[in-house]
Amino acid sequence: MSTTFETVTELISPDAGSVQEADRVIGSLALPAHGIAVHDPATGETIAHVRDDDAEKALIAVSEADRAGNAWARTTSRQRADVLHAWYGKLIDHAEEFAHLISREMGKPLAEARGEVKYGTDFVRWYAEESVRPAGSFRESPDGAANILTRRSPVGLAVLITPWNFPLAMATRKIAPALAAGCPAVIKPATLTPLTTYFAVKLAVEAGVPEDLVQVINTSDSKAFSEAVLSDSRVRKVSFTGSTPVGRQLLQLASRNVLRSSMELGGNAPLIVFDDADLQRAVDGTFAAKLRNGGQSCIGANRIYVQDGIADDFVAALAERFEQVTVGSGLGNGTLLGALIDNRAVNQMKAFTRNALDLGAELVTGGHAYAAAGHFFAPTLLDRVPEESDVATSEIFGPIAAIQRFSSEAEVITRANATEFGLAGYLFTENLDRAFNVADRLETGIVGINQGVPSNATAPFGGIKQSGLGREGSSEGLEEYQNIRFYNVARRATP
Ligand code: NAD
Repeated sequence: MSTTFETVTELISPDAGSVQEADRVIGSLALPAHGIAVHDPATGETIAHVRDDDAEKALIAVSEADRAGNAWARTTSRQRADVLHAWYGKLIDHAEEFAHLISREMGKPLAEARGEVKYGTDFVRWYAEESVRPAGSFRESPDGAANILTRRSPVGLAVLITPWNFPLAMATRKIAPALAAGCPAVIKPATLTPLTTYFAVKLAVEAGVPEDLVQVINTSDSKAFSEAVLSDSRVRKVSFTGSTPVGRQLLQLASRNVLRSSMELGGNAPLIVFDDADLQRAVDGTFAAKLRNGGQSCIGANRIYVQDGIADDFVAALAERFEQVTVGSGLGNGTLLGALIDNRAVNQMKAFTRNALDLGAELVTGGHAYAAAGHFFAPTLLDRVPEESDVATSEIFGPIAAIQRFSSEAEVITRANATEFGLAGYLFTENLDRAFNVADRLETGIVGINQGVPSNATAPFGGIKQSGLGREGSSEGLEEYQNIRFYNVARRATP
């Protein structure tokens, strides 16, 4: 089947009231008239400009955060918890404004943006609660000659670098544990979606976070930024969420001063549907794991393996769901699939589709872009995708479901693990033994069992292999911002 990539299909337009609501928030952010332009991916319009900070400005931000951090490190955990609770309250008071702003600058449908607000604010609440439960321990040395006490202290100034796909959640998942642990922070959001971070940090200050403690830096020269700040001896920590190639560069820079490093990097998630799966559950889970955020998620289902006995029914049912998806502005009424982040992403989807079809894949539905000012690509289902095609070997980061068929459990485990990535994996089966046996053998940090959206604030999110180092969310996420020390207290037996 051929595809023209230029099919003109009706797209849902933005709702004027929703656009006004987003623009009211942007108007409240005291932004400059010039600088880095921020676009609405659904319309191509320029919606704001943000400062283009140079390396010198970034180092001033380090100085200011460092000064504010000295006092913050000495606060009690209850004081920090109270401030975080107050920030959570502010974020919730402005939840609808956040949802509109996220949708406007990033493109996701309003309903999903509301989901991100829930997910993102939960990290602030979680760390407000977690900060008053500092982990520590008491141990006795085996020879009875010492007591060992372990304590946590703040790791120090943290540089936080976030991507564009979850503008609120990626920021709160780092800022909240940093503050809870007692650390100051300099955050650099993606230049494509900086507005949500500005709004969140503005509310943090209104809630009682000391003014200079969290600094926001925007720059068109992220390389100069990271080289300057990661070489500064006051910085002790880098936490990055983004692609694996950039993560490698940052790890090299971090090695100069041996910085504590957390890396949430790229994925290539396998999703496995066994013959004994509940078909409806598998279709619902795959739909969510694939199309949430327009497929622009690091844990998005990338290689969908379906066992031979269920494959025809599964493909037919998933195609039916894909064909019902409404496409358009995230701020439009009834949109289920919003714009991709930029035109490069649309061209990438075209190239992926063309490559898979050239190698023999079957196009079941979709496979086209739209003649529009925004950046849209249809929900696309490819079946019988060859293993060597680009959609099977690369992170797709878009709304293409690439299905490969398999026959045996052993075979699919080998194929699923044949990647340098190890962030998320999914499996669908009604057999409890199989669920745990296969989950145990998947080389990923996250496994969704019979469901497609595994993340929440309580879960230690993160990857293995080249998908990253460290965890975010949960109590483990707090430890990323803490040093562990022990006191050895000598014991002398009394007569
Ligand atoms: P990206 O790596 O291009 O950019 C991420 C951030 O790093 C942006 O703020 C960017 O400006 C900045 N950056 C780029 N080069 C830099 C440098 N040399 N120094 C300092 N900062 C630099 O990634 P992206 O396109 O924004 O996001 C998509 C990628 O992020 C995907 O690979 C996705 O899997 C990954 N991601 C991972 C997770 C996770 O938790 N594992 C979550 C979301 C996204």
